[in-house]
Amino acid sequence: MTRQASPSSPLPFPSLLAKNTRLRAEGSRETGRATKRAIVNFLAERAGSAYCAACISAQLFNGKDIDVPMRHLEGAGLNRRHQRCSSCQRVKLVASLPAPN
Ligand SMILES: [Zn+2]
Repeated sequence: MTRQASPSSPLPFPSLLAKNTRLRAEGSRETGRATKRAIVNFLAERAGSAYCAACISAQLFNGKDIDVPMRHLEGAGLNRRHQRCSSCQRVKLVASLPAPN
């Protein structure tokens, strides 16, 4: 089947809107899980060091807001406290995992 764009075809927004809606719905679940896993992996590789959300996000997610996944991880046992960030060297609310020894 061939689809031809006719000059009188409706505006393309309905499909755009549908796509955005789907992305938003997925964003809260699946990518949220992937985000948390990426954060835990990042901190596990650097156990004993503490990083602020801004530095973690800059390295993993192009600066996207990770406040929600960070709070979920804190509830799951991630350490969060005001301390010097190992990356930007500023005293901020940082996250860390305990060193394995
Ligand atoms: Zn930092």
